[in-house]
Amino acid sequence: MTQRNPGSVIRRPGFPARLDTRNPSPPPARPAIAPGQATASRQTMNLARSVGLDSSAVRQSMVSKLAQQGMTDAAVLQAMGSIERHRFVDTALVNQAYEDTSLPIGLGQTISKPGVVCRMLGLLRQGHPGRLGRVLEIGTGCGYQAALLSQLCSEVYSMERLRGLHDKARDNLRHLRLVNVHLLFGDGMPGYAKGAPYAGIIAAAGGEAVPQAWIDQLAVGGRLVAPVSAGAPSAGKQVLMVIDKTPHGIQQKVMEGVFFVPLKSGIA
Ligand code: SAH
Repeated sequence: MTQRNPGSVIRRPGFPARLDTRNPSPPPARPAIAPGQATASRQTMNLARSVGLDSSAVRQSMVSKLAQQGMTDAAVLQAMGSIERHRFVDTALVNQAYEDTSLPIGLGQTISKPGVVCRMLGLLRQGHPGRLGRVLEIGTGCGYQAALLSQLCSEVYSMERLRGLHDKARDNLRHLRLVNVHLLFGDGMPGYAKGAPYAGIIAAAGGEAVPQAWIDQLAVGGRLVAPVSAGAPSAGKQVLMVIDKTPHGIQQKVMEGVFFVPLKSGIA
């Protein structure tokens, strides 16, 4: 992955958000497995070895499985092969980082399954073989998907309503020095009008409906991918929704069932 010089940050005049550009020195390498995890299973040990020495083989195996499951977007697969998912999860979970499973990231939230992330990014890019323009992500979480988006879009605005996770994402992303990722602490329900219009909007949390503000902030030709509740909210069922803003109006498609954390109002 391209490592960019932090001195070459492009500052948008008047941009009000705190950009993640202040930390030129890389943090100390995180051990793949915490010292003292003597009871780790053989699988953990094997993975620790591969993650510690070269995690790319484990990642490539994840990517191969995604391709076998029908994920065909080469750019998304390439991004998933380059971004080190194990750096975004707690040390104790590192042995599961390349399995197709969601994992806790703290504060009751989860990093989505790689298969779901791959699918949503593929849908976001569908029909746009090149790099997407400006994209808004609702729900930064640990920052993994924001890192992937940075490889696929010209600019990423990523909003998180939980301060603890916003800070965690900043820490997790620091070593990558992604000058095109803007982490925003705030409620994403009203979107982020200052960055609009967006070529794409992607949500990692599901509400009862897609907020109108997101649709308003989508560019004509842009696409929104988000989970939404299906049926009675109490049933807890969600589906993936794809919304295209065409010159002739809004087109909406309901895709497969999914399971995401709830979209909530306000900050905490
Ligand atoms: N893409 C993330 C997934 C995080 S889970 C990753 O790669 O880790 C979804 C996140 O959405 C949670 O962190 C949750 O706090 C956040 N969220 C929920 N409602 C939100 C809102 N209204 N605005 C911003 N973030 C929200």
